[in-house]
Amino acid sequence: MKICIYPGSFDPITYGHIDIINRASQIADKLIVAVLDNREKKSLFTVDEKLDMIRDAVKDYDNVEIESFEGLLVDYAKKKNAKIVIRGLRAVTDFEYELQMAQINRELYHEIDTMFLLTNLKYSYLSSSAVKQVASYNGDVSKFVTPYVADMLKKKYNKYVV
Ligand code: ADP
Repeated sequence: MKICIYPGSFDPITYGHIDIINRASQIADKLIVAVLDNREKKSLFTVDEKLDMIRDAVKDYDNVEIESFEGLLVDYAKKKNAKIVIRGLRAVTDFEYELQMAQINRELYHEIDTMFLLTNLKYSYLSSSAVKQVASYNGDVSKFVTPYVADMLKKKYNKYVV
């Protein structure tokens, strides 16, 4: 069985991520969307909130599982018996960092391969940070994220409005 892992911060999940999940789920027998639980990286959403938003977005996919993980991706991959890491590439600016990570992961675990899926052009400008910025100024994010995520963003940012 071909088990693939799609790791990321997903803070929050966008239509760009969902497009990658959709395509990767057609390649993998089982796709694990893995949310990195990294206390050093500042996130707007908690890991549980991120998992909830992903669960809602991919509920129609039978072969997609959602989990969080801590520590090294290669250790998590070994535990899950996964040999393929999926990453999305938006622009050349993503490439250098992604190449470095892929090489390091392969150095740490020789059986692992990273597969890059090119973003759908429609979403090539889309990032979680840009979405957060728009939402923080009360902008319309309905083209970028699911209604559930848009609602969660509203709740987060409205908290600070008196
Ligand atoms: P990370 O902090 O690991 O980069 P992200 O949640 O930002 O976490 O991204 C996870 C993965 O999804 C990365 O491979 C990233 O390149 C990809 N990705 C993010 N946004 C898009 C998008 N709009 N289209 C395609 N891939 C994307």
